[in-house]
Amino acid sequence: MECRAAVSLIDAKLDGELAGERLSALDAHLASCAECRARLAAGRALGAAIRDHARRDAAPAELRRRVATALRQAGRPRWHDDLRALGRGWNPMAIAASIALAVVVSSTVTRDLMRPGAGDPMVRQVVGDHIRSLMADHLTDVASSDRHTVKPWFNGRVDVAPPVADLAAAGFPLVGGRLDYLGDRPAAALVYRRDKHVINVLVTPADLPGPAAAAYRGYNLIRLDAGGLGLWIVSDLNATELRDFADRLRAAAAPPAQP
Ligand SMILES: [Zn+2]
Repeated sequence: MECRAAVSLIDAKLDGELAGERLSALDAHLASCAECRARLAAGRALGAAIRDHARRDAAPAELRRRVATALRQAGRPRWHDDLRALGRGWNPMAIAASIALAVVVSSTVTRDLMRPGAGDPMVRQVVGDHIRSLMADHLTDVASSDRHTVKPWFNGRVDVAPPVADLAAAGFPLVGGRLDYLGDRPAAALVYRRDKHVINVLVTPADLPGPAAAAYRGYNLIRLDAGGLGLWIVSDLNATELRDFADRLRAAAAPPAQP
């Protein structure tokens, strides 16, 4: 046996999964190879350190649910085995399973797992609308930075009267508006910019529920209720600046009552 073959079997030996001829072949190699003996010892030490020092926390049910959803979407076979490992708690097996999982599932999916709202169908629709608006050369039906042009354009085209605020002074110039769809209904889409980042605001009646904040495929999403409407704000802008934008839009859409 050569070192390359031995290395590939050392983990199995550590896990007690090696028997018969393969075990004797590995043991024979170990007897004559100090390097591979050192690899085996390092693996043992790592296992012992994890057993002795690692906290054992069962993954919360919500995380397990999101893992299951993401794995199904990624078409990962045997995802239920990985889930069982998560359910047992963070033992060395579960850690090994989660490493395998992180390698197999794309980094985008893995990153989304840790964030709220990633599995929400509305979140996926909003991000889908946003991506389509950028790809299809169909960002705006009415292109204007003047809210007195954009707001009336929606009259008679869609059931909602979107709050078209002038946020240029805050660094969020208006680009225009367009008709879009969300939850199988026509929606008003307002388009703003922050430097090179496009911000879409999809405006629907308030009865379309969704998570207050989410991140999906590299896009951030904030959902607000303002002035009896649901505002779905989506962009690749960072979460802090998008929150600033959302706060300003909400203040403009539902100004506080005068004392
Ligand atoms: Zn060797």
